[in-house]
Amino acid sequence: MAYAYDDQNIFAKILRGEIPNNTVIETTHTLAFHDIQPQAPVHVLVIPKGPYVTYDHFAAEASDEEIVDFTRTLAKVCKMQRVEADNADGYRLISNAGAHGVQDVPHLHVHVLGGRRMGRMVEPA
Ligand code: AMP
Repeated sequence: MAYAYDDQNIFAKILRGEIPNNTVIETTHTLAFHDIQPQAPVHVLVIPKGPYVTYDHFAAEASDEEIVDFTRTLAKVCKMQRVEADNADGYRLISNAGAHGVQDVPHLHVHVLGGRRMGRMVEPA
């Protein structure tokens, strides 16, 4: 089954400039911005500009250039937010996908969370 991308999702609207965002960094293929409801002192969302629904969709179908740009931008975000694991105290990356992942916005985003010690990785079943 092909991934169906809904271009009315809120991050598509942010990418089209229809609603504002608090940008951390923007590159050719990637945008990083502060989460509107932060769950930690650092809570940045990193999204590709292309129409990808989930991480596996992006990993399977994005171009090498998009994947490299996304990955390098994520590294820059960690440094800019001073959470990189070599000099600072680290962070957690989360990318929710689909129903079991409890994904709210159907445009790939990686949450970069830091600035405090995180709790359990997942709730017990
Ligand atoms: P998820 O549940 O993984 O799909 O996460 C969606 C995230 O998007 C949540 O953490 C929301 O707080 C965040 N979010 C929703 N709308 C906006 C917005 N307009 N600007 C920034 N973050 C948003």
